[in-house]
This record gives sequence, structure tokens and C-alpha cells, in this order.
Amino acid sequence: MNAPDPTYLTDAFGRRHTYLRISLTERCNLRCTYCMPAEGVELKPKSHILSFEEILRLSSLLVGQGVTKIRLTGGEPLIRKELVHLVERLRSLDGLRELTITTNGLLLPRKLEELRRAGITGFNISLDTLRKDRFEEITRRPGLDTVLEAIHRTVDAGYDPVKINCVVIRGFNEDELVDFVAMTRDLPIEMRFIEYMPFDGNTWNTGKFLPYVEMVDRIREVWPDFRSEGGDELEIAKLWQVQGFTGKVGFITSMSDHFCAGCNRIRITADGQLKVCLFGAQEVNLRDLMRDGTSDEALLEAVRSALARKAPSHAGMETIAASENRPMILIGG
Ligand code: SAM
Ligand code: SF4
Repeated sequence: MNAPDPTYLTDAFGRRHTYLRISLTERCNLRCTYCMPAEGVELKPKSHILSFEEILRLSSLLVGQGVTKIRLTGGEPLIRKELVHLVERLRSLDGLRELTITTNGLLLPRKLEELRRAGITGFNISLDTLRKDRFEEITRRPGLDTVLEAIHRTVDAGYDPVKINCVVIRGFNEDELVDFVAMTRDLPIEMRFIEYMPFDGNTWNTGKFLPYVEMVDRIREVWPDFRSEGGDELEIAKLWQVQGFTGKVGFITSMSDHFCAGCNRIRITADGQLKVCLFGAQEVNLRDLMRDGTSDEALLEAVRSALARKAPSHAGMETIAASENRPMILIGG
């Protein structure tokens, strides 16, 4: 392959795609109600999922064309066997600057050290409540203490900030916003409040949706000096801080104030579908192309033509809620 072409992964709206999210599995050791249907998802044979060699091939091709950040997600990425070997090999890709993982944290206390040594540069740990009964209600499994241990161990290992993902659901955890913000007083974390998004089979409805502006109001009732610090480097999280606190608060406003204009992300699902928009139905089957012997050049061309069709923005909250999209666990967060 020739030297990276900075325009190769640029779409019709001038958005350069430098951030690749790869789902490693459709399986999970939790059953979050906002992510998967109550009846679970149909589990397919192992051959349905991309092998490490296939993931490495796609990653290497895309890093070769300007991708600088890869996030491993799922399902629960830490349940994928031999994950550490994949991390080591991805880390050696020339041009890759960040290699991060989003995890529910359950297996992290056990695997943190080997993942750190293998080269993971950042962790997002998901946690929606600090109350045991609510944790078991939303994830349909026990495990709160382990996730809290994972957060503290990751902080102790020197990751700064450790990002905590919290899906905010009206009537469920809205009264815990301030408890989470209180954690930023002494911990070097970025507490990220994510607007609840609709996916097939989850329990989304407009009544459960709590917009960013309302979250800010609730926090300001307790800390009037809670202030906006602007956007993160990619303007995806809106960053805020209580003055004098160590950590920050980020809001991911995918629904009330989408950040499509600056979207630099492409996704590969565990079964090898390229998605250029989290909410778009358009998928390109890279797995079958690879298994049919497609050349590197033709694979890249398939990515480029999908990007050429990428819409300027998603269709808006109500339309997304009314349209079909695979459950989040099958897309990868
Ligand atoms: N299992 C890992 C975890 O939970 O961190 C990684 C995969 S999970 C699909 C990635 C992220 O998507 C998690 O932070 C999760 O909270 C978020 N997520 C899942 N369903 C969501 C929804 N309906 N709305 C907003 N965020 C959602
Ligand atoms: Fe599993 Fe993460 Fe989905 Fe929860 S959000 S069910 S932990 S994949």
C-alpha cells in the first residue's frame, strides 16, 4: 500500500474519518435493558464473527489511510479470548496513536494489568447507578462492587482521565446525577452522561429521555458554579466542571444536539459489517468480501464508496425511534 492519503477516508461533507470502533463480540456478561431485548439476542456460530486476522487486516488497511484511534467495544470486549494478543498486535500498527476499550468493567480487575502492558491507552467503563438494587435491575445481573473496584484500579494504574459512561434514564437514575458528579471531586475521571438512545428491542420512549440541558439544570441546583469548559478534542462530549474539582463531566448529546457535522467515526460490527453511521441502516459486508478473496484495494474502495454515501446527519430523535436499527449489542457501542 502507498503512503496514507489524507483525503482517502474523507466524505462528501469534508469529514475525515480517523476514528475506528470495532466490536469484538455480540456476547455479554450483562443484559442491560437499554442495550438488548429482554429475550436476549440470537447467538450465531463463531465463524459469523471476524477472526483476529480479519480484524487486523481491516485495521491495518484503515490505519494506513489515516485512522489514528481505535476503540474496542462490543458486546463485552473483555470476554473475547486472547484479547491481549489482539491488543499487542494492533498497538504495533504504525500511525495508530490511541487504542482504547469500552467495557462494563466486570472482568477488568483481573485483566487490567495485562491490557495496560499490551498497550491500551484509555478505558471507558460503563456504570449507570451507584445503587446495588438498581444495578441489578438495569443490567439484570449482580456486579456493582466489581465495577467500582475496576474504576478505582484503573485510576490507580495511572489512566487519566478514566471515562465513566452513564446512560441517563428519566425515572431511573436521574436522581443520581449529583452523586456521580460528586465522584469528580477527588478522582481524575471524566463522568460522561449519555442521552438514552433508541435501538431495536430496548425500552426507549420519549418519557424516559432526559435531555442534556435538563441534566445541567439538576447539577446546577447543587453546584451553581458548574461551568462549561467547551468540547473535547473532537467536540463529541460537551465538557463541564464543578470549579475546584479534579475530574470533569462530559455530556454526550447524540439525541438533543447531535454532533454529526464533526463525525469522524466508522464502525465495524462483530460480524464484519461496516457502518458509517450508528443510526444508519446502511451496512457493507466486509467480512464476506474478505472471505471471497477481495484485494486490499477493493476493500478500501468499498469503505470509500460507503463513506461517499454517508448522510450529513442522522434523521432526528423521533425518526430514529420509529425506524429499524439493530439492537445496540449487535452494532457495538
Ligand atoms: N459492554 C461494554 C460496555 O457496556 O461498556 C461495551 C459495549 S456497550 C454497547 C458501549 C456503550 O454503549 C456503553 O457505555 C453503554 O452504556 C452504551 N449504550 C448502550 N445502549 C445505549 C443506549 N440505548 N443509549 C445510550 N447509550 C447506550
Ligand atoms: Fe453488555 Fe455493554 Fe450492552 Fe450492557 S451496554 S448489555 S454491558 S454490551
